[in-house]
Amino acid sequence: MATGLCIAAAAITAAEIERLDNLPDAANETVDADGCQFKAGHTGRHAWLAQVQDGGENTTGWWVMWDAPAGTDPSTYEIVSAPFCEEPDPDGIWTCEHPAAHEGPHRFD
Ligand SMILES: [Zn+2]
Ligand SMILES: [Zn+2]
Repeated sequence: MATGLCIAAAAITAAEIERLDNLPDAANETVDADGCQFKAGHTGRHAWLAQVQDGGENTTGWWVMWDAPAGTDPSTYEIVSAPFCEEPDPDGIWTCEHPAAHEGPHRFD
């Protein structure tokens, strides 16, 4: 059973970290690089959650997204804001941490 995470990873610049950390209601300290949060072998772009704007009802995530094959350095990437996928886990405690309308299984599947 292939349950591992995708091994793709990407880094962002200091200027982008500053921009993400200075967003209103920024909840996290943005890191400079991270690995893709989707499952190994997923379709569509890679993504990691760089920042969360905690706006209560309207919480927004900021994902770094890119296309390069896993294991290679992405030459380009995009930082995309989107609402979170609201699918609850089977115990109803967490919700999926992927962007809304993501491809593939939810984070806890
Ligand atoms: Zn990936
Ligand atoms: Zn989901």
